[in-house]
Amino acid sequence: MSNLVLNPPPVVTIAIEGSDQQFPVRRVYCIGRNYAAHAIEMGHDPNREPPFFFQKNPDNLYVGDTFPYPEQTKDVHHEIEMVVALKSGGRNIPVEKALDHVWGYGVGLDMTRRDLQGIAKEMGRPWEIGKAFEHSAPIGPLRPVSDVGHPSQGLVQLKVNGKPKQTGDLNQMIWKVPEMIAYLSDYFELAAGDVIMTGTPAGVGPVVKGDVMECHVEGVGTWTVTVV
Ligand code: MN
Repeated sequence: MSNLVLNPPPVVTIAIEGSDQQFPVRRVYCIGRNYAAHAIEMGHDPNREPPFFFQKNPDNLYVGDTFPYPEQTKDVHHEIEMVVALKSGGRNIPVEKALDHVWGYGVGLDMTRRDLQGIAKEMGRPWEIGKAFEHSAPIGPLRPVSDVGHPSQGLVQLKVNGKPKQTGDLNQMIWKVPEMIAYLSDYFELAAGDVIMTGTPAGVGPVVKGDVMECHVEGVGTWTVTVV
């Protein structure tokens, strides 16, 4: 018998491509601006600033082919992002060991109430009101490393109603996946079930009800979401 005073909330899970198994989610980390508008040359950029992160709530993840237009906004933007799902974690993970902790990859959307985020930025307030709302992180099925490897280059594209809106390449990430994992682990204890949204290429913009967002990350998958 449980001694909980309420029924516990259900475990949040992400679907796995071609499987009836599910990936259980612990935390959701999102990196801020992580793509340069131009191709990044080999080697590191000495001018890059330290990365910054915010979090969404695990139950903001939304596995489905619809995105319900949220409350209290008139300016909801799409941000296509590759998603990294961890099978293990720890503290102070070295960059060269970071990929050992990855279970797999997926294609997600960091849906953003841009008007509310803008007000928060202006006032120096936290971003949750713009970022961490219900259904704010639609995500397609994950694929395991054994299937897709560790994608580090390839097209990232979001089309709205068939028209390309965001187009980039995974190789344009300023902070690469192993660096993000290592950096986060210096500030937080990472663990199995943690999910990292890896940032979005240029071209973010608003959607309205009825829009169809086609989300593609080369080597990871294509997945379509309709705004309802
Ligand atoms: Mn984002």
